[in-house]
Amino acid sequence: MLARLIRTGQRLWQRSRSLRPASAAPGARSLLLLRLENMDTLSAHLGKAGFGHLLVSLSVRLNRAIRPEDPVKIPETGIFAIVLTDRSEAEAMRVAQRLQGRAQQPLAVSGLSITPVLTGVLIHAEGARQADLDETIRNARCRLAQLGVDRLGGVSLFEHDPALEGGDLPATVAEAAGTGQIVAYFQPQICCDSGRVTGFEALARWNHPTRGLLLPAAFMSRMVDADHKALTRRMIRQSIEALKFWDSQGCQVPTVSVNISNSELSDPDFANSLLWELDRQDVRPDRVVLEVLESVAPVTSGSEARQNLSLLTKAGCRVDLDDFGTGYASLDAIRQFGVNRIKIDRSFVMGCDIDPGQQRMILAILALAERLNISALAEGVETREEHGFLAQMGCDEVQGYAVARPMPLPETLQFLANQERNAGELPGMPRRSAG
Ligand code: C2E
Ligand code: CA
Ligand code: CA
Repeated sequence: MLARLIRTGQRLWQRSRSLRPASAAPGARSLLLLRLENMDTLSAHLGKAGFGHLLVSLSVRLNRAIRPEDPVKIPETGIFAIVLTDRSEAEAMRVAQRLQGRAQQPLAVSGLSITPVLTGVLIHAEGARQADLDETIRNARCRLAQLGVDRLGGVSLFEHDPALEGGDLPATVAEAAGTGQIVAYFQPQICCDSGRVTGFEALARWNHPTRGLLLPAAFMSRMVDADHKALTRRMIRQSIEALKFWDSQGCQVPTVSVNISNSELSDPDFANSLLWELDRQDVRPDRVVLEVLESVAPVTSGSEARQNLSLLTKAGCRVDLDDFGTGYASLDAIRQFGVNRIKIDRSFVMGCDIDPGQQRMILAILALAERLNISALAEGVETREEHGFLAQMGCDEVQGYAVARPMPLPETLQFLANQERNAGELPGMPRRSAG
């Protein structure tokens, strides 16, 4: 289970360009930087001592796999730097592949079997192109930070590039967004009746140069207004690109949902800039769902937020009330904001197939949605049993690990193909009869 949780990267060997042919290369120097992915999740699951054990085991493994004259350095927690000397580019790549393969073998930590995922950057330099080691490490960290999500879990080859900016690491989400380090992952939403995908929610990840792929919990609490704006702009841009990508691949994905915080809603330009972007990219507004937190909705009445939501819904955008049941949305707010769907918070969904208390809450929320003529999506659905119960009770859609975890855009294609193949076969979980 944990092994599956942490294996997010694709395990492909990737190169930024083709290798030069192998030949003896006296004086050549390559630097391999390997970054352990999902460090926050691992440390949360394993605890401090277990995580420390994992790091030491990885270092021991790597040291055992190389010549004594190429020791492993640890410039930062979870980053391993190995200098390979006198090897041609092709030889260095082979060693890099071997080392990454060794490091990714399963290992036992605190009674759990862990399969670590490491992302590698190999910088090769010969003769005059060689730079000082610290500078090469900075260069490699920059490269790591700029890798697309499809390269996580692989090894990418680069030349040292003195022109590469960014010796300094980004300190804020706004800076990270500016350098392409904020990436959208997509989690599917499924219709309970047909099993078909009704849309994807875009969830932010920070591909941090040294800390690996970070979840929102690791960075959102420190964000200020400027970060929220930069993050949302980036997420909207990637979500629209994702819609165009699915269309170009012939996939049926009706909508993409973007989380919108109070900062954007109270920005007077928000609605117009979103509509302008949709127009520029030739995407219909009704394919974009704005997820507004239930706790934000009532606070915003009478403000710019109201104006923004009104402009956007008039243009066709949809509105979801996120984390429904945890805030204090009044029925009036639901009406005023033109909410199309409520997202039933995970706290009500957990164990709803067996817990009568949860069942009462779910039934009350579904009855409310039905009376208000808005649809209901249950989020955080982790088991088939919860999915089955929700479908039987008349919930329209589900989203959660039972269907799929959030994934990088390229992986959605495989998911969509599988889902399309299996949709007809889904039991079409029996629904409560009307009345
Ligand atoms: P959210 O909007 O409620 O998103 C759902 C969260 O639940 C996501 O966490 C998702 O990965 C997680 N999740 C999905 N299915 C399951 C499940 O079956 N079980 C469990 N335990 N969790 C599940 P994530 O991606 O870590 O995001 C956390 C929160 O960060 C989001 O909660 C949202 O409030 C915020 N967030 C994420 N991306 C953005 C963004 O682009 N903009 C803004 N403003 N907030 C964002
Ligand atoms: Ca959400
Ligand atoms: Ca939510």
